[in-house]
Amino acid sequence: MIGGATKLVAIVGSPIAQVKSPANFNIWFQENNLDLAMIPIDVRADSVAAFVDTLRGWQNLHGCVITVPYKQVIAPHLDRLSQRAALLGAVNVIRREADGTLLGDNVDGEGFVGAARQQGFEPKGKKALVLGAGGVGSAIACALCEAGVAELVITDLDSQRVQALAAALHGAFPNTHIGHEYPSLADFALVANASPVGMGDNGELPLPAAMLETLTAGTLVADVVTSPAITAFLQRAKTLGALIQTGPQMARAQMGNLGHFMGVTPLGI
Ligand code: NAD
Repeated sequence: MIGGATKLVAIVGSPIAQVKSPANFNIWFQENNLDLAMIPIDVRADSVAAFVDTLRGWQNLHGCVITVPYKQVIAPHLDRLSQRAALLGAVNVIRREADGTLLGDNVDGEGFVGAARQQGFEPKGKKALVLGAGGVGSAIACALCEAGVAELVITDLDSQRVQALAAALHGAFPNTHIGHEYPSLADFALVANASPVGMGDNGELPLPAAMLETLTAGTLVADVVTSPAITAFLQRAKTLGALIQTGPQMARAQMGNLGHFMGVTPLGI
C-alpha cells in the first residue's frame, strides 16, 4: 500500500506498460517490509526537459530507471554523469542527490557482466565478441573493457557506430585490443548478441548460420533479447555445446545495480 510517507523510485520511458521493473522492485520492497514503491512514468518526448527539472524538486522520489527511448535523450539534461555514462552518452539510471542535483549512470553493462560472473565466467584476460554497437552493445563493450578483457571484437550493420565506439573505448582503455573482424568464433570465450535480432521469436540469427557452427563447446553465448528468453541464437549455441546466458538473466542481475545506485536496495539482490 502506498501511503503518505512512502518513498518513491520510478521507471521512465514511452511506452511503459511492457516494463517488468515495477513488479520486480515492488515485490522485493514488500518482501523486505520497506515503505518504498516503484511507479511507471510515461513521459511525452516534448516534456522530457520539464520532467527532468521537476525531478530536481521532487523530494520523495529518490531516483529513476531510464528506458527506451530516453537513455540518450535524458543524459544531456542531467547535472552530472558517471565516467561510463559520459563515455556512452547514455544513462539508464538517475539518482536525486540531497541538494536536488541529478547524477546519471549506466549499469546495463554491469548487469550483463554480473550475470556472466554468476555463471562462473570471469572476463579478465579473455577474448570477447559483441554483435551490435547500439545502446546496450556499447554498455556491454564498455563493461567488458572495465572488467579487463584482453581483446574485444565489436560488429554492427552500421560501421560508423562501430568506429565511434571503438575510438571512445580505445581512449578509455588503451590496453584492450579492439577489432572489428573475425574469421571464426573458435577463439572467443564470450559471444554476445547485443542487437535486437531474434526478438519476437522470428528465428533470425545475428550472424550467418555457418559462422555459428564454428563455435567451440564451453564458450559462453549470451543474448540481450528478453522475449523469447531462449532465442534461436541461444538454442543453436546450446546444441553446439555452449553455455548460455539469457536476456532476462541480464535484466535480473541488473536489479541490484539499479536499486543500489538509487539507494533503495543492496548491490547483490
Ligand atoms: P539500439 O537500436 O540502440 O542498437 C541495436 C544495434 O544493433 C544497432 O546499432 C543495429 O545497427 C545493430 N544490429 C542490428 N542487427 C545487427 C546484426 N545482425 N549484427 C550486428 N548488429 C546489428 O538498441 P539497444 O537499446 O541497444 O537494444 C538492443 C536490444 O537489447 C533490444 O532488444 C532491447 O530490448 C535489449 N535490451 C535488453 C536488456 C536486458 O537487460 N536484457 C537491457 C536493455 C536492452
